[in-house]
Amino acid sequence: MAMMRSDLGIMKILHLKKRGCFLLKLLCLVVLVLIFCEFLVYYVVIFQCHWPEVNIEAHKSSKQSSASVLKAMFLSDTHLLGEIKGHWLDKLRREWQMERAFQTALSLLEPDIVFILGDVFDEGKWSSSQAWADDVRRFQKMFRHPVHTELMVVVGNHDIGFHYEMTTYKLKRFAKVFNFTSGKLITRKGVNFVMVNSVALEGDGCTVCSRAEAKLMKLSHKLNCSQQQEQNHSNKRCSGVEQLPASEPILLQHYPLYRRSDAECIGEDSALPEEKNIPFKEKYDVLSREASQKLLWWFHPRLILSGHTHSACEVLHNGKIPEISVPSFSWRNRNNPSFIMGSITPTDFSLYKCFLPLESRVVTIYCIAGALLGVLILAHLQRLNPSFYFAQHLIRKHKAV
Ligand SMILES: [Zn+2]
Repeated sequence: MAMMRSDLGIMKILHLKKRGCFLLKLLCLVVLVLIFCEFLVYYVVIFQCHWPEVNIEAHKSSKQSSASVLKAMFLSDTHLLGEIKGHWLDKLRREWQMERAFQTALSLLEPDIVFILGDVFDEGKWSSSQAWADDVRRFQKMFRHPVHTELMVVVGNHDIGFHYEMTTYKLKRFAKVFNFTSGKLITRKGVNFVMVNSVALEGDGCTVCSRAEAKLMKLSHKLNCSQQQEQNHSNKRCSGVEQLPASEPILLQHYPLYRRSDAECIGEDSALPEEKNIPFKEKYDVLSREASQKLLWWFHPRLILSGHTHSACEVLHNGKIPEISVPSFSWRNRNNPSFIMGSITPTDFSLYKCFLPLESRVVTIYCIAGALLGVLILAHLQRLNPSFYFAQHLIRKHKAV
């Protein structure tokens, strides 16, 4: 009797051990899938991106020349959700994805400078000072960066509101956090970037608008004088003007320059076919024709990068000035977000688009893992309790007869 009882005890322990072992295996599978989908997948995908080759002046040694190429990363429309429209789960998921993508890109690609082309926040246009502070805190955590990498942010309509809702207060609080001014020149390694507040290019003479225009005109004067001095053209109006590198500037702004629609845009991440032919509204979807012309006259840029549309496009202005619409960096806005990598010298540039993991692919991996988990549990139950399934099978057979 005692022997039988101890046998039963051993069997029970064995049974529990088996079950524990099985649960441990399941847990391992779940943890592995989570680590891959939430962490490793960013490394696997971004590892495939590379800085594009750019022509470098021939007389420089290779060591000198690689140091003289500026590695710049451009992303746009992160739209960090706010307290009014953002669901906490949506917020958590999107912000985790963007943080992992950004941090992975920083560690693998080591850019010198990163530009975010506006609409950093979704509700900056109406957020209370407390909600704003909370959004800024989360932004600074997500987009933290080492001291040798600079981060520059251009203002967008969701950060301070469209022109009719933009106020000096909202612009000031944005400018304070991001050290942004409505026309700002950044010169790195001889490359000039002009950061534009495109929301203030309404052309109606409002206080913010006239200040922004005056600043841009002053900058354009400085840049044009530098180019003339380089070519030894003497100009009285340029005397006493600070000399900058004579390179043509690159314009960075949120709204794209005027274009009729996205009908001409091609590529897997351009606008959806049903949206492509919808005409753009000036001062809403794109800058007005007048403001666009002004920017081209003032700066003669060699490249323009903009955001706002959430989709990709390449446009040629005046037959020679390329503009790149940088798609949204958030999976909330697209299945295939991306960022642009630019190798830039004072005379040349080369761009490359780095795609982030497809959200649909990550979801598929989760679905397959879930199905596998289900099958494993069923198989285990069947193995553990075959008599139960045998009885069930018999009952079914009996019923059928
Ligand atoms: Zn926008």
